[in-house]
Amino acid sequence: GPKTSTSVKKLKAPSELLSKTSIFIFDCDGVVWRGDSVIDRVPEVLEYMRSLGKQVFFVTNNSTKSRAGYLNKFTKLGLDAQAEEIFSSSFAAAAYLEQTNFKATGKKVYVIGEVGIPEELDLIGVPYIGGPADAEKQPNMAAGGRLEHDHDVGAVIVGFDRYINYYKIQYAQLCINENPGCKFIATNLDAVTHLTDAQEWAGNGSMVGAIKGCTGKEPILVGKPSPLMIDYIVSKYGISRDEICMVGDRLDTDVLFGKDNGLSSVLTLSGVTTEEKLLSPENKIKPDYYVDSIADFLPRPEL
Ligand code: PLP
Ligand code: CA
Repeated sequence: GPKTSTSVKKLKAPSELLSKTSIFIFDCDGVVWRGDSVIDRVPEVLEYMRSLGKQVFFVTNNSTKSRAGYLNKFTKLGLDAQAEEIFSSSFAAAAYLEQTNFKATGKKVYVIGEVGIPEELDLIGVPYIGGPADAEKQPNMAAGGRLEHDHDVGAVIVGFDRYINYYKIQYAQLCINENPGCKFIATNLDAVTHLTDAQEWAGNGSMVGAIKGCTGKEPILVGKPSPLMIDYIVSKYGISRDEICMVGDRLDTDVLFGKDNGLSSVLTLSGVTTEEKLLSPENKIKPDYYVDSIADFLPRPEL
């Protein structure tokens, strides 16, 4: 009805948006692909954007791969993307450590997460333990009733981990609660994700929640909607926020990332958000426009 739809516009003519935007940041899952399937006409959209001279970036909250891992995925899926255009929350966690000069502390990181975080830490030369190496571990409670932990861990990074277990939770808890000044970093807080099309799956919000629950501490968030990745992109490329449009399928990560950080925003219905949810009076996070998919950015045949 008119009451709910007045402030969120369905994009009618793509030129309305394209004429005032020179840079597009695309979220990945739900925008470019769904799981391992490319969303209809996306290769054509990317080609069209480049033909218009638009700059494009890809920003994902999924920490299970590094930027190099995503470049490989883009290539495998037949999508044209350059390494310098891709940003992931695994990278954001490493960038946070760089920005805070973590290396100078001489400490290491404990990782809850898959290969993406370790690969990004390798690139910045920060030592780490945990991650995939702890997938099969269990704490041995008979051994003096203690799990010994490394007192040189100065940060715990919590990313999505299909092999999270009680050992990892206890190890993270000991580092955060017992190592003075130990940081608690969350790659992202996505509640649920679409690992398969058939249903929603518990996202990294559940892993971060486990560590919050046993430490009582709030994490430092580095993924969307936190400003870290947009601040990094804007400063690295010397671009201005008013030229940038954030395109995503989630309200509380992508659209909020755009709105909180001075970007224009487009919500696409090709992912997790329904039109009903977007236009409902309960939704307070309103993009400038919404589209069925980014194929709506392509020129349309005259009616
Ligand atoms: N985290 C995990 C584990 C995921 O599987 C996904 C999507 O598949 C996401 C986060 C969200 O990723 P994106 O920001 O690309 O939508
Ligand atoms: Ca998404």
